[in-house]
Amino acid sequence: MDHAATTTFLNGSSYFIELTYLIASILFILGLKAMSHPDTARKGMFLAEAGMLMAVIGTLMNKQIVSYEWILGGLVAGSIVGALMAIWVPMTAMPERTALSHAFGAAAAALVGIAEYTVNISEMSKFKIGALGFEIMLGALTTTGSLIAAGKLKGIIKGTPIQFKGQNFLNMLLFLAMVSSFVYVMINPLASMVFYAMVGMAVLFGVMLVIPIGAADMPVVMSLLNSYAGLAAAATGFVLSNNVLIIAGTLDGFSGLILSILMCKAMNRSIFNVLFGGFGSVIHEATAGATGTMREISPEDAAVQLAYAKKVVFVPGYGLATAQAQHAVRELANKLEERGVEVKYGIHPVAGRMPGHMNVLLAEANVPYEVLYEMDQINPEMSTTDVVVVIGANDVVNPDARDNPNSPIAGMPIIEVDRAHSVIVLKRGQGRGFSGLENPLFFKNVTSMLYGDAKASLTNLAQAVQQI
Ligand code: NAP
Repeated sequence: MDHAATTTFLNGSSYFIELTYLIASILFILGLKAMSHPDTARKGMFLAEAGMLMAVIGTLMNKQIVSYEWILGGLVAGSIVGALMAIWVPMTAMPERTALSHAFGAAAAALVGIAEYTVNISEMSKFKIGALGFEIMLGALTTTGSLIAAGKLKGIIKGTPIQFKGQNFLNMLLFLAMVSSFVYVMINPLASMVFYAMVGMAVLFGVMLVIPIGAADMPVVMSLLNSYAGLAAAATGFVLSNNVLIIAGTLDGFSGLILSILMCKAMNRSIFNVLFGGFGSVIHEATAGATGTMREISPEDAAVQLAYAKKVVFVPGYGLATAQAQHAVRELANKLEERGVEVKYGIHPVAGRMPGHMNVLLAEANVPYEVLYEMDQINPEMSTTDVVVVIGANDVVNPDARDNPNSPIAGMPIIEVDRAHSVIVLKRGQGRGFSGLENPLFFKNVTSMLYGDAKASLTNLAQAVQQI
């Protein structure tokens, strides 16, 4: 190609790149929109994936690429690891898998930032240096924070909050030192010692930020870290003058933040309380009304109640996920519906361990979306429900949150199953839920306990209903 032809080709390809980025950004926005409803969530994932493919294609056309070999190697290795993770990681381990993905994404942003610093710092404007520092700080602290979160969720690191005296003060000092180094580097960009000290402090700050938080609060922490990773990516976009990174990073950053706020709201906690409250550090003792004996019921007696009921509501919780009982509950629901029983599902926004946990599991078992009712929709129906079957849920049906102002979960909205005519609770034993609180529901007159693994209990119930 002669010089003129090369210039025309490069200009043409830069238009092509911008076009792919524009299409990618539109697909990301449409994907996010579609993901906001379970009916269209799968389509949303495909749209977002197509957007990512467009962004990758556009980036591979970049004329600054020196060699494709390393990129190809990375693509192949990443695709293999991703495919294996998709095959092997069970749904119940999805939270720690997501934490690991955040760690990788954030590490990528931080490493790109460090590479940019070493190669291009002398040519950068003050604005770009600011964006670079922001990217590296957020990227580095999100990497270690997410690794600690994954470790806590997997049980490799102690799940209870790790706290010590003066911890908040020390964290504040570390934060101030890190930000001061950032400001110093902005003024003296070539002060590489201070730059690397800032990176080191960010790495340490990620660890310090997450260790005092209990494992059960990790989903909120993760969505907050996801938000940081998104903002780090947006800052990377400013450093590299890459529009799609700016748009995708900002979408990621703010959707993560909104999700964290919604999760906190559903638990009636503030983000401040999640981050600094050390929730889960004390095992709380019996709470108001949690005295007396729990009444046990046999599968046969429970099946009679269900078979002759007009309306049954299933309220699933974390135990449904651990037991993988989604298909078993669908089977029981089918048997009841064949007998003319009206069946609904009451879904609490923070049931399980991640947002939409119950919806995903029930969708896997093809439970029709129309029979899933959100907490606010199902609560008014409780007084006209004959039997509620609580499947491995505990905190989200704890009446103490409503009745006991001194309870640590006071004010958390619950599904008010105790207003139904009868409640059958499926759980394995006396285990407490995420909050570590005793649940007075289990001692109420309306309640009977069907002990055992939720999947086995539901299968037994379906068989017993069949025989009636
Ligand atoms: P939960 O309060 O953690 O209670 C789960 C119950 O399931 C336990 O009491 C356990 O009792 C039982 N269980 C466990 N495995 C079982 C099995 N195989 N079969 C039958 N039962 C089993 O769950 P939840 O009511 O769903 O509440 C969720 C909690 O997580 C809330 O406190 C919420 O704030 C918190 N949280 C949720 C999210 C989110 O995004 N969803 C995020 C952060 C925090 P046994 O051991 O006796 O069986």
